[in-house]
Amino acid sequence: MPKKRESRGRRKGDKGHVSVVSCDNCGKRVPEDKAVCVTRMYSPVDSALAQELEKKGAIITRYPMTKCYCINCAIHFGIIKVRAEQERKEKTVLR
Ligand SMILES: [Zn+2]
Repeated sequence: MPKKRESRGRRKGDKGHVSVVSCDNCGKRVPEDKAVCVTRMYSPVDSALAQELEKKGAIITRYPMTKCYCINCAIHFGIIKVRAEQERKEKTVLR
């Protein structure tokens, strides 16, 4: 059967089973190796206020926050993009 993607959209290889994570946006359960995880710096202070406070010399701590999304949500947020058919066949790292 022809394959749409070399890796079937996952990084599983010949592993038998991988655990499942919940999408942080919609709550869908996705396999760990398929989920798109991004780490971003998060500040509890509002960005406009933080900028002003930093101008005055205050130090605002930012925390790294990792979020995992399902494919639908990752495309919706622009983290990954829909690729052309030929591009999909290439052996490149997805994320
Ligand atoms: Zn989702």
